[in-house]
Amino acid sequence: MYADVLVEYGVKSLDRSFTYIIPDNLKAKLKVGMKVIVPFGNQKINGFVINIKDEENYDQLKEIIKISNEDLVLNKELLELGLYLKEKTLCTLITAYNTMFPSSLKIKTINTNYNLYNIYLNIKDENKAREFIINNKRSLKKIELINRLLNKEIVLKKEYNTYVIKELLAKDIISLKYETKYRLNKEKIKEKKIKLTKEQEMVINSVDLNNKNTYLIHGVTGSGKTEVYMNLIEKVISKGKTAIMLVPEISLTTQIVNRFYNRFGFNVAIFHSGLSDGERHDEYKKIINEEIKIVVGTRSAIFTPLKKIGIIIVDEEHSTNYKQENNPRYNAIDIALKRSEYHNVPLVLGSATPSLEAYARGLKGNYKLIAMNNRIGLSKIPKINIIDMSLEAKKRNMIISDALDQKIKERLKNKEQIMIFLNRRGFNTIVTCVNCSHIFKCPNCEISLTYHKHKNNLKCHYCGYTIFKPEICPSCKEKALTSYGLGTEKLEETIKEKYPEANIIRMDADTTIKKGSHENIIKQIENEEVDILIGTQMISKGLDFPKVTLVGVINADESLNIPDFRSGEYTFSLLNQVSGRAGRSELEGEVIIQTFNPDNPIIKFVEENNYLNLYKYEMKIRKLLNYPPYYYLTILKIASKDYNKASIKANKIAKYLNENLNNTIILGPTTAGMFKINNIYRFQIILKYKNFDYIKEAIKLLDSMYITEKNISIEIDVDPVRI
Ligand code: ADP
Ligand code: ZN
Repeated sequence: MYADVLVEYGVKSLDRSFTYIIPDNLKAKLKVGMKVIVPFGNQKINGFVINIKDEENYDQLKEIIKISNEDLVLNKELLELGLYLKEKTLCTLITAYNTMFPSSLKIKTINTNYNLYNIYLNIKDENKAREFIINNKRSLKKIELINRLLNKEIVLKKEYNTYVIKELLAKDIISLKYETKYRLNKEKIKEKKIKLTKEQEMVINSVDLNNKNTYLIHGVTGSGKTEVYMNLIEKVISKGKTAIMLVPEISLTTQIVNRFYNRFGFNVAIFHSGLSDGERHDEYKKIINEEIKIVVGTRSAIFTPLKKIGIIIVDEEHSTNYKQENNPRYNAIDIALKRSEYHNVPLVLGSATPSLEAYARGLKGNYKLIAMNNRIGLSKIPKINIIDMSLEAKKRNMIISDALDQKIKERLKNKEQIMIFLNRRGFNTIVTCVNCSHIFKCPNCEISLTYHKHKNNLKCHYCGYTIFKPEICPSCKEKALTSYGLGTEKLEETIKEKYPEANIIRMDADTTIKKGSHENIIKQIENEEVDILIGTQMISKGLDFPKVTLVGVINADESLNIPDFRSGEYTFSLLNQVSGRAGRSELEGEVIIQTFNPDNPIIKFVEENNYLNLYKYEMKIRKLLNYPPYYYLTILKIASKDYNKASIKANKIAKYLNENLNNTIILGPTTAGMFKINNIYRFQIILKYKNFDYIKEAIKLLDSMYITEKNISIEIDVDPVRI
């Protein structure tokens, strides 16, 4: 027997399979979809079995060396999905398949044994056991153990010293029983029964579980979407099927996962980047062994080998986190759609602020649009106040306006909770010399370094370059360094000074490095040990704390000024989401948004909580400028350490595209938004088109032409979420 093996070899042009002999000892075990190790040239490399056959015309074939892990097999669905991933993102097939394995189970670490066991003791031979008791009256411990076992008690090996067990094992009186133990294992908690609202019932009933429709639930924050998801999943499970539920980021998984554990207990497996390798291994194993029915996780959870899928749900559909920013540049929602089609089951997308693309599809009828316009029970959409910071600046209120200050004091007095949002971490964002105007910039990225006071260092948020903050200016040697630009670290310090009686906690990338820190922060807020939560976009979505009645946004302009055609949409969604954290119970909520652009239409739409007006306004601009959803986009980034080389190639490629593409708008080359990152210069070309087929062959060809080229690379991003 022979196997066609896709080999893992750096070069894209080698994305093909080679035939190997299946040695006798592997014949029974080897399956299509397994990872193997094969000889290649004089190396041993990883490969992937994509076909098994009896006949082969060539002689002189080599043998497969071994199977990497017998537990890991991509099933037929995932093998097909790999082909789609390759077509859609132009990655290699082997990259596609590697993406579908959880990283801890990649070949490099496969020798690590992650299995944990509970080891139990059992009686092996009852007659011998009774005989032993009679003949060894003085072995008290041993007799106790035997008696317990004879009485059918459950006994763990670790309850007894080795010397007790050893003899009994050797005499075949008792035996060991290994039972796989999982690191994460949550029991179902009896929740108080929730009675669904009419609106929730209506939504649940309108989802047809037997067909592959896509639904877009446009539900205001706090309208009870999560409850809807859980009820849909309950229905699916009762029919013997399974469910995948995606959430955009790990900070969000904590609360949602707890709600899922409470309702579904052992039936839930979770996936996100905060798991340890062992935990990830365990969760994966539960899926392979078909021990669980529900997967809740971030982006990559869409690839889990769950069988009999009955529904896929994507919460916060608008989130850019569903797009992977490096190779393969896939969007988990595309994959979700593909899998729902394969299983002929519904895909449910939910958001308070759907992406324009999704909402347009909803209006056109490609997605079934469902609205949830009301918050649950007595809870109301919070009142939003816009504060003009140019007036505050005259009063020397640079960080906290009078209005916000007054409301914070009110809440502290009433023992209610407050969330303050600022989408910048660090202490100061710019460090400069007042004497010579020297600015500290990253030597690799041409971007100003952020000052982190706690560690007294200056850090590049793109490449991680870090230096200690010097006392004197490296340029003029004067002791004249100053810094400005507000980050969450400084905001925390300011708020601590201003409200010394308050308990304050900060949640951003710097305070959540340690495993479990998200959970820890959320628990403290739930237990009301915290009065004020300060955070970046990490706190903007999904969190549900009934005691939060005030949300403050420190600088709403930050995201408005990003040079991306979606900045308006993103700003609206961010501000609407963060506002939605307030007033989620019977306690009324209020929001203060500080801005230097109070008359900006986007800010107005936020104030009115009017998604539809935002949609209409943005769609006009998109139409005028030929942006999505009117046109599709692909971005080519031409990158090199050598500025001239990158520039010349970028022009050459643009020329080629101009000569070879029809019905396509070609913009550029221009320097990319992040022009120099990590010492690599990047130019970009933007393609706008109505049909991917117009450009597919040409960019595939480009890709293969440049793949072997040294010192220059092209990144191709189909349907980018950032430009
Ligand atoms: P969303 O996901 O739309 O933001 P959630 O599902 O988190 O909304 O619901 C908001 C709050 O209302 C949660 O605390 C949830 O437990 C509660 N809730 C949801 N549905 C009901 C219901 N039918 N009855 C009572 N409380 C509900
Ligand atoms: Zn840098």
